[in-house]
Amino acid sequence: MEQLPCQDCKGLCCGPVAISEVELKKIKKKIKTMPRKTRYKLENQLRFHGTCIFYDTEKDRCGIYSARPKACSMFGYYKGMTCFRKPALATKNHDFIEEPVGILSIDFTWKDFK
Ligand code: SF4
Ligand code: SF4
Repeated sequence: MEQLPCQDCKGLCCGPVAISEVELKKIKKKIKTMPRKTRYKLENQLRFHGTCIFYDTEKDRCGIYSARPKACSMFGYYKGMTCFRKPALATKNHDFIEEPVGILSIDFTWKDFK
């Protein structure tokens, strides 16, 4: 499958995202099992206002990749979730997305994952 050109985007599309209860629990587990040093470094990076709290600015990638919300993994490949850098890839029809409990980076911040 053709991939999006995400490298060097520096988290351009990583902003606040709606998450479900299940996703919230998954992220909490991921953060809790992270080595303390990794977690501390991720938490204390400087980010632009509005950038996702889990975007890893040093490594230019998602800091919780294996636990990222479904909306993040769908972005760019599903209709209505188009990436302007390669709009032609947004062709899939929507899967079911669970009811959100809040917005990551706004309703849930680092203090909720300790
Ligand atoms: S989905 Fe698009 S905007 Fe987001 S990082 Fe990838 S190429 Fe960049
Ligand atoms: S959870 Fe990961 S992929 Fe989703 S917006 Fe945050 S940094 Fe980006």
